[in-house]
Amino acid sequence: MDADNVPSEIVETLLTEEQIQARLAEVAAQVDADYATSDLLIVGVLKGATMVMADFARHLRSHVTMDWMAVSSYGSGTQSSGVVRILKDLDSDLVGRHVLVVEDILDTGLTLSWLLRNLGSRGAASIEVFTLLRKPEALTVPINPRYVGFDIPNVFVVGYGLDYDERYRNLRQVAVLDPRVYGG
Ligand code: 5GP
Repeated sequence: MDADNVPSEIVETLLTEEQIQARLAEVAAQVDADYATSDLLIVGVLKGATMVMADFARHLRSHVTMDWMAVSSYGSGTQSSGVVRILKDLDSDLVGRHVLVVEDILDTGLTLSWLLRNLGSRGAASIEVFTLLRKPEALTVPINPRYVGFDIPNVFVVGYGLDYDERYRNLRQVAVLDPRVYGG
């Protein structure tokens, strides 16, 4: 789905497909270089990171293994609650592994900080983070992802995996949703 298909629901396209793919290629080249001598496990956080994982993994030139975790933090609202539940845990054992957590968006950071604490207790050799999007103004906990795709303003965005009430995940772009859609 394109932003053009739902013009009345979108205020602005923040990132085009081309911009997203170009940045993913750059980050993948950096990750290839940084992990040249180690086996990497990339962990996607469902459901938002599905598109990033699929495209980012294909930009990599080295072997990686892929695993998934599902956590819930938002329900169908647009505010982070900080209350996190594991809906699906990893299939992999992290002991001795180099892990790169792949996230769709870093907003307040509450979800990721909880996740990093949780994963940090599993004996990994290293745990780093790649987030496609980051809202620097919204961050309330100190998290320094090793890789960031784009810093964006503190607005609610959808597309490229990100939903509002489970819709818009299949939008090719990252776009600002019209607040009328969620009654804002
Ligand atoms: P945090 O805990 O960092 O505030 O939020 C993390 C999660 O909230 C993200 O993984 C994502 O699911 C959701 N989220 C935060 N900001 C946005 C946004 O602008 N749009 C959408 N669709 N989800 C968001």
